[in-house]
Order: sequence, then C-alpha cells, then structure tokens
Amino acid sequence: MPKKLGFGCMRLPLLDKNDQKSIDTDHLNAMVDAFLARGFTYFDTAYVYHAFKSEEAMREALVKRHKREDFTLATKLLTRILKSAAEQETVFNEQLAKCGVEYFDYYLVHNIGAGSYRQAREFDTFAFVADKKREGRIKHVGMSFHDTPELLDEVLAAHPELDFVQLQLNYIDWDNPGIQSRRCYEIARKHGKPIVVMEPCKGGSLALVPEKAEKLMKAYHPDASAASWAIRFAASLEGVMTVLSGMSALGHVLDNTSYMADFRPLNEEEHRIIDRVTGIINEDTAVPCTGCRYCEAGCPKKIAISDYFALYNSAKRATSANFSSQLVYYLNLALTHGKAGDCIDCQQCEKACPQHLPITGRLKDVAQQFDNASLPTR
Ligand code: SF4
Ligand code: SF4
Repeated sequence: MPKKLGFGCMRLPLLDKNDQKSIDTDHLNAMVDAFLARGFTYFDTAYVYHAFKSEEAMREALVKRHKREDFTLATKLLTRILKSAAEQETVFNEQLAKCGVEYFDYYLVHNIGAGSYRQAREFDTFAFVADKKREGRIKHVGMSFHDTPELLDEVLAAHPELDFVQLQLNYIDWDNPGIQSRRCYEIARKHGKPIVVMEPCKGGSLALVPEKAEKLMKAYHPDASAASWAIRFAASLEGVMTVLSGMSALGHVLDNTSYMADFRPLNEEEHRIIDRVTGIINEDTAVPCTGCRYCEAGCPKKIAISDYFALYNSAKRATSANFSSQLVYYLNLALTHGKAGDCIDCQQCEKACPQHLPITGRLKDVAQQFDNASLPTR
C-alpha cells in the first residue's frame, strides 16, 4: 500500500534564507535520497515555487539521480500568471523540460478560487489538462483549491473528470470560518475524490506550538514531534491519499518518515488532545498566515509580508519582555524590503491571499509592534 506522506517542494533548503532561488543542492540530494530509501515516493512541486526554480531543483536532485519508476511527480499550472490560453501549452512543455520528465504522474490546476476559476474557464484549462492526459503526458489530473466549500462543490460538479483534489486540511483550520477545512473535506468526499492534503502543519506553525500545548503532547508521546501530531491528524482522515509536508531540512525528512513508515491513525485520546491543543493555539496566534508568499509578488513596496507576520506571531507568543530577536530579524529584513508601515493600502496582496487574510489591517499591527522600536544599545 502506498505510503501517505508526500515531499512538498515549496520550502526547500536554502543557502541564503532571503533568496528563494538559492536552493541548497547537496542538502536537497540527501533529503530526497533519505525519503526514497524509506519507501516514500510522492513529490509535489509547482511552476512558481521558489521563484520558478523548484521544478529544476527536483530534476537535479530527483529525476536525474533516481529511476523514473521509483518516484511519482506532481506539478501545477497557475493560470493567474498566464496572459492567454495559448501560453498553457508553452508553460506545460517548459515544465516537462524543467522537470526532465516525459510525463507527470499528477498534474494540478493550481490554486483554484473564485478569480482563478473564472480564468480557468476563459482559458479552457480543464479541457487543456484533459487533452494532456489523453496524450499520455499526465497520469492523473487534479486541482488544488483555496476557497469556499460552495465553490468546491460547484467546480467538482462541473468537472467529474478530475481524478483527485488537493485541499488545505489541518487541525487548526478544521473549523476555522475563513478556511472551512472540514466542510471542504466533506464536499470532496461527497464527490468521491481522493484527497491530497496540503498545509497539514499550516506553513510550519503547527510544528512549533505554544509551550502549554507542547506539554500536553509530550505527556502522551514524550518522543513525538508537534509536526507528527499535525501530519497524523490529516493522514487519519478517510479518503486521504497522501499528506504533503514541505520539508526544509534532512531532520524533517527523518522525523516525518519515522512515524509515517508504519502509519497509525490517531486514537480517541489523541483526538481529544488535539482538540485541547487547538484551543490553546487559537488563543495564541495573532495572524494565521501560512507563509505561501502568494501575496508578495505584486507588492509595489516589496514588503516581506509573510516574514513580518511570522515575526509578529513569534513576538506575540514570546514569553520574555526584554530582548526581542524578532525585532532583530525585522530590522534586517527592512534593510532590503519595505517596512510594514510603508504599505499604501493598494490591496494587491489581499486579492492573492488564499487564506483571505486582512493583510493591510494586520500590517498596521506589525508596524505598531516593530516600526518605532529600537534595539537596546547595551
Ligand atoms: S496593500 Fe500594502 S502590502 Fe499589500 S500589496 Fe499594497 S503596498 Fe503591498
Ligand atoms: S498573507 Fe496570505 S498570501 Fe501572504 S504569505 Fe500569508 S497566507 Fe500566503
């Protein structure tokens, strides 16, 4: 039976954490080798990940160094960045070349929501990918989805040909009114679609939970990581085909594969612990940003939105009122990016945010936290 853990290629190891293109090839090779050696096969990349470099990185680390039958590769087509329907063919061929493959095992229409669905209809994207499947260039066609359960129902009803759907499912978004993970899951099940889970750890935030929550988890499983609870939660759901984990270090691969090699669904007591942990985290997270960075490409002020939110969340969780390492990082980032207070309220970012976050309002909070603060001189 295929193992339910996929290697997400959106947060690969970097040589320079401020440069998404600076993928650490040696480190990535070791991660890919370890993942395959432990019997896992599913890799998930996309045209736009790592400033358009993730697919090439996977060609070098995976495709060129391993037999084609030993892995499955998923990638995605983002209609938002295309100017015409004809560009779909160009990008698709470019993706085959960038990945160094003759076919994709899984191919997804990327990030379907109200706006991108309109565009996909305009470009006839679903027919385009169906043609590629007929030509043998794609084995399984799907979509990744970030919008309401009502729209998911509409799209799945209109496209029964889709082989699977990729959804954001994690315990913190399960009943989150902005994301509605539970209802989206139920819609996918109603349509009988196998589910690939993305963001099981909510952009890594569920790998680092508040101390109070961690204590609850450790009391039950002293050696299990917080991430293991989040990934097992998603993998325990019926109909889930694989759970993607965006791994950035060999340690993540070794940890994830250790408990997913012989996967056990959560038991009732573990579910009760997750419920309590959810309550603690909800009290504690200021801005539920996943770090996907979709918002940043169009920002005229080059504001490091996701990094600022991550720092803001950490600052809000910090137990020490003295030295703030978050402020150090913030000031460093602000040397090469706009500060939070430089936002001109143009709303570009909010249109791109799959989490529907009120980014401009929250940047005002970030500005208040950091923009006028200074580091102690001694
Ligand atoms: S609203 Fe602010 S953060 Fe968003 S894109 Fe415009 S300037 Fe950038
Ligand atoms: S603000 Fe939204 S789009 Fe930007 S990184 Fe966070 S979740 Fe992604």
